[in-house]
Amino acid sequence: MPFDLVTIPCLSDNYAFLLRDQQSGAVALIDVPEAAPISAKLKELGWTLSEIWLTHHHPDHIQGVPDLTAEHPARILGAKADAHRLPALDHALTDGETFQFAGHDVQVMDVSGHTVGHIALYVADAKCVFTADSLMALGCGRLFEGTPAQMWASMQKLMKLPQDTTVCSGHEYTQSNAKFALTVDPENPALISRSREIDQARKDGVPTVPSTLSTELQTNPFLRPADPGIRAQLGMENATDTDVFAEIRARKDRF
Ligand code: ZN
Ligand code: FE
Repeated sequence: MPFDLVTIPCLSDNYAFLLRDQQSGAVALIDVPEAAPISAKLKELGWTLSEIWLTHHHPDHIQGVPDLTAEHPARILGAKADAHRLPALDHALTDGETFQFAGHDVQVMDVSGHTVGHIALYVADAKCVFTADSLMALGCGRLFEGTPAQMWASMQKLMKLPQDTTVCSGHEYTQSNAKFALTVDPENPALISRSREIDQARKDGVPTVPSTLSTELQTNPFLRPADPGIRAQLGMENATDTDVFAEIRARKDRF
């Protein structure tokens, strides 16, 4: 891979990511929960920050921008739809737009649901997608602004990416997501074994993020409303995928 990808734990359970193009040395940072750990990692690696890509407006994804850019100036990119509630943008992104990062295509995908205006950023050459609080490891973001139908439409967009895509999501919620997932998909062998791996990783203090899309497709109930086992478990054999997705999301909210 002509890229380096670094996961940086921030705050209590957030993740920021650094993506570096090895040939040019250009570095993109995805989300800025807080400045200190990101600044420390840049110094440790000797990397110079080029760009910041913001996924959505929540404080735990943007609040480190002023402190970080005071030390590490960078171009800031984020959704045009959210420009009124993001730090000042150097490039306002629209859904479906492709922009260049060190000569590589970055595809902007509107993945509204957690918020309206939340974007995911897909870098095909790096085989990775930055999903923050849309698609998460074994979960999906809570619906603060969007509807279940909106979030399900967003999930379906992400599901069409190549299965070997690395999914870089925004939080270490995977262990509790796994406990919930087992309540709606208890017989899924891939989920049962992933859940064990997650317990071990957390015991060892190892991040469970990023994951891969193929793993999510096999185990994440929010990508599996069409699954007969989940439908049987919910007693929703004849419902639409959207309704099953909505029921899974509602149960997670109460879990
Ligand atoms: Zn959020
Ligand atoms: Fe968040």
